Amino acid sequence: MNRAPDPSCMDDFDVQSILPEEAAARIRPIVQPVQDTEVVAIANALDRVLAADIQSTLDVPGHANSAMDGYAVRGEDLPQDESISFTLIGTAFAGHPYADTLGAQECVRVMTGGLIPEGADTVVIQERVRAVGETEIEISPGETAGQNVRAAGEDIAEGSVVLRAGRWLTPADVGLLASVGIAEVSVFRRTRIAFFSTGDELREVGEELEEGCIYNSNRYTLAAMLKRLHVEPLDMGVIRDDRKAVEQAFRAAAEQADMVITSGGVSVGEADYVKEVLEEMGSVSFWKVAIKPGRPLAFGRLGEALFFGLPGNPVSVMVTFYQFVRPALLQLAGATPSTPLRLNVPASTPLRKRPGRVEYQRGILSQDEDGNYSVSKTGMQGSGILTSMSQANCFIVLSLEQGQVEVGEHVDVVPFDSIT
Ligand code: AMP
Ligand code: MG
Repeated sequence: MNRAPDPSCMDDFDVQSILPEEAAARIRPIVQPVQDTEVVAIANALDRVLAADIQSTLDVPGHANSAMDGYAVRGEDLPQDESISFTLIGTAFAGHPYADTLGAQECVRVMTGGLIPEGADTVVIQERVRAVGETEIEISPGETAGQNVRAAGEDIAEGSVVLRAGRWLTPADVGLLASVGIAEVSVFRRTRIAFFSTGDELREVGEELEEGCIYNSNRYTLAAMLKRLHVEPLDMGVIRDDRKAVEQAFRAAAEQADMVITSGGVSVGEADYVKEVLEEMGSVSFWKVAIKPGRPLAFGRLGEALFFGLPGNPVSVMVTFYQFVRPALLQLAGATPSTPLRLNVPASTPLRKRPGRVEYQRGILSQDEDGNYSVSKTGMQGSGILTSMSQANCFIVLSLEQGQVEVGEHVDVVPFDSIT
């Protein structure tokens, strides 16, 4: 198995844990992408996953047109040594083409997007033309044949694949679909994701907070992260720290969902039944990963459903979700995998780190007056400090072997904007 090179010199390493890349490698073959599809109008296709390649039945643009406001002429007529006058024979505005053919020493007034008339192949911009009379202009040397013309099919050629199956549709993509005249597309069905929190100490917002209790925040962070991935969420509330209750909730969730996600109850405390029940009712692939925060992280199957048992600490929930759940959800949704942007920048604050786990510290990536990037850590880095996530705009990813980081040392960062 793929364990750390030499755990003995890594004081934060736990021999029961597997490396993050090993965890990802175990998750990947287990996730079976959804197969069911539905047809949606492109107005509703944003953030859906294409189920089939899209081929264009059109050239875009459909005809050569002008990239500028000016005069369409024949390139061969352009002057070499001294100015030449051209006869103005008509206009070609966007949506209102010039109907006839343009001949020698003739020109047509064209606006941006207007079709290049038959016979013409060049546009001279209006600022470089001298109007002589109502129907005559003069063009000076220095123009190039073919200039300022957008060729037919230069954006999209008829028959070419504009978007591939597995594409997570962006605003640009839905516009692109419209530009080739496609009104509806086949997409994979949305995945059904059940989630719940565990813990006797949890109270809901609006409820009174008795001594020793805390508000359930994971429910909201999880729901929000799932929302951004456009799944069909099944919020199953809170399960108390009671073995029977955990079993019941697992059964109900597994029957309805493609994936079940829990938070809390996955460590080795007295009342932590998640792993136990998963072992009994389904199968556990792993339950400890060498990352910080987030070491207790259970992954396995629960009947037909995939199962992630996230840790209870609010920051651990987010780190493990982004690192492991999100890629699994994208794969489940039928989407082609993409790697979040990673930058290598100098640290502007020292970073405490012990070798033995991959750490996801919370950072603020910023630019100085000269445009140079650097990253500083947000305040306290404990796994329960949710403000550290809220203030941050990136993860600072520190490798397993990495120790203390000094100011000026380069570190990898993953901006949140690239993973939401
Ligand atoms: P556990 O893994 O259940 O031992 O939880 C670890 C820590 O996370 C404890 O301090 C819990 O109180 C806290 N925690 C667990 N679930 C939640 C939740 N839904 N919202 C906020 N904090 C939680
Ligand atoms: Mg608990």
